[in-house]
Amino acid sequence: MKEALKARAIELGFDGAGIARPTPKTLEHYRDWLARGLHGEMEYLARREPQRADPSLLLPDIRSVIAVIKRYPAPSHSPARTVAPAGAVSCYAQGDDYHDVLRPRLNELGRWIENQTGGAHAARAFIDSGPALERDYAVQAGLGWFGKHTNVLSRAHGNWFFIGVLLTTLKLEPDEPARDHCGTCSRCLTACPTNAFIAPRLLDARRCISYLTIELKGAIPRELRPLMGNRIFGCDDCLAACPWNRFAHPEAEPAFQAREGLAPADLTEIMRLDDAAFRKRFAGSPILRAKRRGLLRNAAIALGNSGRAVAVPVLIEALSDAEALVRGHAAWALGRIGGRSAHEALNAALDREPDDWVKEEITTALGEMGEMLD
Ligand code: SF4
Repeated sequence: MKEALKARAIELGFDGAGIARPTPKTLEHYRDWLARGLHGEMEYLARREPQRADPSLLLPDIRSVIAVIKRYPAPSHSPARTVAPAGAVSCYAQGDDYHDVLRPRLNELGRWIENQTGGAHAARAFIDSGPALERDYAVQAGLGWFGKHTNVLSRAHGNWFFIGVLLTTLKLEPDEPARDHCGTCSRCLTACPTNAFIAPRLLDARRCISYLTIELKGAIPRELRPLMGNRIFGCDDCLAACPWNRFAHPEAEPAFQAREGLAPADLTEIMRLDDAAFRKRFAGSPILRAKRRGLLRNAAIALGNSGRAVAVPVLIEALSDAEALVRGHAAWALGRIGGRSAHEALNAALDREPDDWVKEEITTALGEMGEMLD
């Protein structure tokens, strides 16, 4: 049954499957991470703690967890170190939303179990969407080990893959966990542009560019903005630094190939999207999660970091955006680029700006431009 199940998972397009006991092993580490507040505003991670600790609250009579992995395309080049006037989108997010692609396949695997057992056994799928510690189960199931960058990686696939889990009442023999092969390497830790790693396997999400560009809903801390470069949705730097990726096979799944205009992203086009155009442009994409105001906030920072005068006109337009979040970051970006037209536009915006936080951003930007001129 176990081998047939793994074969079915591969038929469904997964790149690996393994079996774990329904008992998380890293709960204490996870609780400690939450207790230290390193998850920032991701309150959903702290909710439903009992279900995370005891998966029988998610599926009564659970006997096994089936973990599956699915590769996505690695970046075609090293993450940008030099700032370009175009935006970088994390490679997992350049195609279709992985939840939409993988959940039906995992549900199909669950139905296969039900059919094979004559309806005697049930299954429930989670793909980065519920209170299940997917990485924990993937490690227990032998699909990889916890890298120092906190993601799971394997000798066969590197670290460019998604993880899903299927809880089931079917008793299956657990697989052996994979051994840790990080050794003395620490490339991922030093690759982080914002120094978000406190220690190996301990990430301060509040500094992580993935958190800042996707999860954080408000203003991005000013001191971190210059470190974000041109990254507008997620960051691949720690993953791309891992030497095990050289053994990974290219991924050809059509749904995960980069959509047109996302590799790289046209920042000017993004800054000019209204709500309806944003929803249409990113329908079925993980980028919807950032919402329009979040993505434009990120794009404004990337334009500011480009330092290019060509970015000034669209940033001046953004000073009149309906969202204060966008206006404030556009002001910051104009202050960073500088120049006469940016200065004049900021002064004019200050006179009409109703929001106190945006006013503060404009005043700070003008102050810094003044210092530059001095
Ligand atoms: S870069 Fe090095 S330390 Fe980081 S996950 Fe890869 S092997 Fe481990």
